[in-house]
Amino acid sequence: MEIYSSPLQTIVLPGTQIEIYIKRDDLLHPIVSGNKWRKLKYSLAELKNQGLNELATFGGAYSNHMVATACAGASLGIKTHCFIRGHEPMDSHYLSLAKLYGMNLIQVSREEYKDKNALFAKYFEKSVYFMDEGGKSDLGSRGLEDVIAEIDLPQYSLFHASATGTTALGLATGIQKSDKNIELYPIAVINNREEQADYLKEVSHHLNMDYTFGGYAKTKDELIEFCKEFTSQTGILIDPIYTGKALFAMRDFIRKNAIDTVNPIVFLHTGGMLGVLSQRMLDLLK
Ligand SMILES: *Cc1c(COP(=O)(O)O)cnc(C)c1O
Repeated sequence: MEIYSSPLQTIVLPGTQIEIYIKRDDLLHPIVSGNKWRKLKYSLAELKNQGLNELATFGGAYSNHMVATACAGASLGIKTHCFIRGHEPMDSHYLSLAKLYGMNLIQVSREEYKDKNALFAKYFEKSVYFMDEGGKSDLGSRGLEDVIAEIDLPQYSLFHASATGTTALGLATGIQKSDKNIELYPIAVINNREEQADYLKEVSHHLNMDYTFGGYAKTKDELIEFCKEFTSQTGILIDPIYTGKALFAMRDFIRKNAIDTVNPIVFLHTGGMLGVLSQRMLDLLK
């Protein structure tokens, strides 16, 4: 699975006079989230290294990771399975796409889903590679280190949407290994401060919890208005679940002078196209 370097584009941030850079990882793949794609890179190389050809992972019915894994599996000849949390009707476009890419979907109760190791052992042998929910792992975060090497600026502030902390950990580690002066601002889109802070404790970052808008996939009118304004003025799609919240936060930082705008500001666009194209979001964004 080849990952090409994504473009670094400049835009004037809508609602400000400030020119910012946007690292277009959304362009790595038309529907698979950029960071999910990067997270898979080293895990799938490891799977192949171990001589394996099959994997099982975990996700909800709206999981970007699930679709990314299904797509990567199809392109690399790896048989993929995914445990789906809950027995709700299987009618999301995420699930349809995962199936289309040849993934075997196994619906389990929310109770059973909690113990992932037990669930895995019940269905699979050691010849199947275990991949955690969201692609969370050390190998997963390593894929994000590459982003830092691709951005050719000596000094900047870097913003992105953060959920499990895997992306933030990879970026922070990439920063540590580089000789560049980069301040990392992961913007949480989910209220899990302890989990993320704990995962990131060895590395330097400014994890911010003030822009979750009530929690995962929760929105407010001002966030929806911001997403519309941003997309209509830049031609770049963002979703209100991940990138919309992080960009909203970044603009707020700039407006409140909470960040030095003499240094370049870079936003990592992590993708999330399927989130924009869900019926609920399209209705909200009308
Ligand atoms: C999954 C996802 C994130 C969060 O990544 P983590 O590594 O879990 O913090 C951010 N943006 C998009 C579009 C995603 O799909």
